[in-house]
Amino acid sequence: MSTSDPLRLRVIRGEILHFLSDPAEHGTAAWQHFGDGILAIRDGLVAEVGPADDMLAKLPSDITHDDYRGKLILPGFVDTHTHYAQTDIIASHGEQLLAWLEKYTFPAEARFADAAHAATVANFFCDELLRNGTTTAMAFATVHAQSVDALFAAALQRRMRLITGKVLMDRNCPDNLRDTAASGEAESRTLIERWHGRERLLYAVTPRFAGTSTPAQMAGAGRLFAEHPSLYLQSHVAENRAEVDWIAKLYPEARSYLDVYGRFGQLGERSVYAHCIWLDQTDRARMAATGSAMSFCPTSNLFLGSGLFDLDCARQVGVRVGMGTDVGAGTSFSMLQTLNEAYKVLQLNDQRLSAESAFYLATLGGARSLYLDDRIGNFLPGKEADLVVLDPQATPLLARRSAACSSLSERLFVLMMLGDDRAVAATHVLGTAAWRRPCSR
Ligand SMILES: [Zn+2]
Repeated sequence: MSTSDPLRLRVIRGEILHFLSDPAEHGTAAWQHFGDGILAIRDGLVAEVGPADDMLAKLPSDITHDDYRGKLILPGFVDTHTHYAQTDIIASHGEQLLAWLEKYTFPAEARFADAAHAATVANFFCDELLRNGTTTAMAFATVHAQSVDALFAAALQRRMRLITGKVLMDRNCPDNLRDTAASGEAESRTLIERWHGRERLLYAVTPRFAGTSTPAQMAGAGRLFAEHPSLYLQSHVAENRAEVDWIAKLYPEARSYLDVYGRFGQLGERSVYAHCIWLDQTDRARMAATGSAMSFCPTSNLFLGSGLFDLDCARQVGVRVGMGTDVGAGTSFSMLQTLNEAYKVLQLNDQRLSAESAFYLATLGGARSLYLDDRIGNFLPGKEADLVVLDPQATPLLARRSAACSSLSERLFVLMMLGDDRAVAATHVLGTAAWRRPCSR
């Protein structure tokens, strides 16, 4: 490593773990772990990672570093599905999906016609992501163009990787949240022009779900997605049984709910579908074959009583899977809490999620789902140096339980079961600390 310009170097020291591939396929060869490691960062990108002893020999002797010894450094978490405009309705009682949309979601989203409200929530949302160690998110905005502007602006200010888009919704919703096939497409084009590819920001064509778009709007969304090879598409599929029955009535010609998206050209690389619960193996294989990704949203699926995601069936067909918090139906911004609930969902399906697989899904797995694994997801040289620092001593119980652990696997599992935002000591974006826990503890 060249050290000719040490001022541009940033050095971070601590226990380091990152994934090179999926532990479900490659076992212990899937990750690198350095008990005392150093991550060298130049201009926001990873220069090199390795054992501290080796790295110190190569670095200038007087170089200062962020010392996180005693803590665990991982790549920043990737949240593949969330709704920033639902931040204020998190923990709203009593409904399943369709009634929940009517009673809580639509009234909350209507407030985003006000750009000042959108900006306030967008700033809170991005800060909350960082406080929880999440450095990349794919998020729904609302039907209002200004809601997209607000979220992109907040992410830009924090230099985060963020994917969002204007919700397309031209039927089965309140009048004040309804666009038209033509206006939705025109506004999306303007926003793509303004934001897609600017710094770390990317645009997603965002039909809410097949039930709230007419066939004309669905066709327009598919055309838009096809026009530009680097654009994303995000939607929901097969979340709730009543929803699946309703979609079958709306689109009687389709083989399945997923097939509706296929018919309108909305499957493909960089398309991400939340939930994917009530699919059959034909649907899952089609998602794999088209390069579409699934977002597993366990806290939301339990909270709304939607159903249990089947990870084994997804793995059998080799489809890309990432984790989603799905705030506000999801009950936490914390990826640790999301992994906690994922473990329990899979237990109910008689499946076992290893701690390594869980942290893979929250980092490199999410990056692969978003086709960003050439930029983020691990600490290979050249990657964007986004990272989270986890503190196994963060709470009395975590400290006590962690002290009794004898393996990395056990310590990771304890962190994901007992940890939450309190366990995040710091979050770095492009090498620089974007959030640090106050020292008053
Ligand atoms: Zn959602």
